[in-house]
Amino acid sequence: MDRDGTLNIDSPNYVKSLDEFELIPGAVDSIKIMNDLGYKVIIQTNQSAISRGLISNYELTKIHDFLKSEVSKKGGQIDDIYFCPHHPNENCECRKPKIGNLEKAIIKYNLDPELCFFIGDSKKDIETGCNCGCHTILVLSGCHNYSTIEINMWSEKPEYVVKNIKEATKLLLSIGEKNK
Ligand SMILES: [Mg+2]
Ligand SMILES: [Zn+2]
Repeated sequence: MDRDGTLNIDSPNYVKSLDEFELIPGAVDSIKIMNDLGYKVIIQTNQSAISRGLISNYELTKIHDFLKSEVSKKGGQIDDIYFCPHHPNENCECRKPKIGNLEKAIIKYNLDPELCFFIGDSKKDIETGCNCGCHTILVLSGCHNYSTIEINMWSEKPEYVVKNIKEATKLLLSIGEKNK
């Protein structure tokens, strides 16, 4: 899944410190439920703020340690966090919608993409999920304000569109029930 706008409130000016990091209600509980459903919870986040000099690696680690500890307090677990520190101009392989990091995760955790979901709040996240061959869920909790008309014009459309991470989790629960 994505981080900004999906698990925490996004900012058009980048999330630059732990002080600016605010979890979306229900995010932590959602991760715990996903764990219980048997999903590995892996984050892939574009953090060009690093190459832009707006946040240090140290501060980013602090945010991710905080996120992991909030989840573990509730008995849940984030299995891995991958991030792309590069500027879009650097043309790296790890910036979404490219899947350099996710390919690593697929090998490391022996994942079958067809059984995975990519959850995110942006068009790029949906493209990322499609590039991996995963199922895709668009959450409308970011700052994009996409209209249904707009989403329907994307060449890679989300399989599901829901309000937020809590609703995405409900969806995963209902899919789990169907597959029993
Ligand atoms: Mg996002
Ligand atoms: Zn990168």
